[in-house]
Amino acid sequence: MGTFRAIRIDKAEKGTTAALTQFDEAELMEGDVTVAVEWSTLNYKDGLALTGKAPVVRRFPMIAGIDFAGTVAQSSHPKWKVGDKVVCNGWGMGETHLGAYAEKARVKGDWLVRLPADISTREAMAIGTAGYTAMLSVLALEKHGLTPRSGPVVVTGAAGGVGSVAIAVLSKLGYHVIASTGRVSESDYLKGLGAAEVIDRAELSGPAKPLAKERWAGGVDSVGSTTLANILSMTRYGGAIAACGLAAGMDLPSSVAPFILRGVCLLGIDSVMCPLERRELAWSRLASDLNKAKLAEITHEIGLDQLIGAAAQILAGQVRGRIVVKIT
Ligand code: NDP
Repeated sequence: MGTFRAIRIDKAEKGTTAALTQFDEAELMEGDVTVAVEWSTLNYKDGLALTGKAPVVRRFPMIAGIDFAGTVAQSSHPKWKVGDKVVCNGWGMGETHLGAYAEKARVKGDWLVRLPADISTREAMAIGTAGYTAMLSVLALEKHGLTPRSGPVVVTGAAGGVGSVAIAVLSKLGYHVIASTGRVSESDYLKGLGAAEVIDRAELSGPAKPLAKERWAGGVDSVGSTTLANILSMTRYGGAIAACGLAAGMDLPSSVAPFILRGVCLLGIDSVMCPLERRELAWSRLASDLNKAKLAEITHEIGLDQLIGAAAQILAGQVRGRIVVKIT
């Protein structure tokens, strides 16, 4: 047994510390598959864990990082053999189970998804938990019955990771996408991804009326709080909003009016404990419904040594699109 590079989080007198260090393989947690991690990514939740701004980490020491893609190095799980390409999102990695910012990860084989043949490990992490959550949101809207003929869809937090992938996927599927952003200067970027219209998020951030003028048939919201309340009040009769994030806050200052007077549905999206079958569907749909050239355009690469600095940027809403982290 040796050591490997990892971003380790420890409890400090006040809060937590994060540092790039050598981690002892003997300290890896239980699991029937060991993966040589090739790529990870920076998600909003990783930013919270690395900075200690929210109590994401619930075990110390912890290796941060909620998702990885790599190659199976050892396996006693019947489904996996050495050399298989896999992706892993959530399941408590970086929270209760040692996570992804490390050259090695040991996890349960039941947590892993086989990478679709045409998605590389780097592309899988360019998508990352943010992109996979965007796809879970699209799947939920489709299950509700939404189609491009239903009407426009709104995507909030548009220039962020979830928002960018949601726009790219929805536009490829033929939807008229309205992107809501605080960075109107990024309009060209958002239109390049496929947004038909770009609106200033200030339009959606004041106190919400119980009902407002109907503007869209559905939406993907990664912002929460008054933004979610506003988009619900502006959703057409019978429409649905997939709520997956809390970039502006965890509260929801809304009323029941959209639900009981317009039959609007609020669809909850969780990527962490999502069942395997739905994950596999999401990854196979990402392989077919996400334009790889667009994915490349929204992706920015950093090394493990740049991660801690980037964590503050994602919390400040300064990251555009997706950040992939080269591990090995
Ligand atoms: P990013 O930081 O990449 O994107 C968030 C975007 O939200 C920002 O780029 C910004 O977009 C917008 N935003 C930030 N702060 C505010 C604010 N105060 N008011 C309004 N808009 C704001 O994060 P991700 O895309 O990775 O994640 C987005 C959210 O989704 C997070 O809350 C995250 O925790 C959640 N999430 C949930 C998952 C689940 O399982 N449910 C899985 C993955 C993510 P712009 O500049 O365009 O306005």
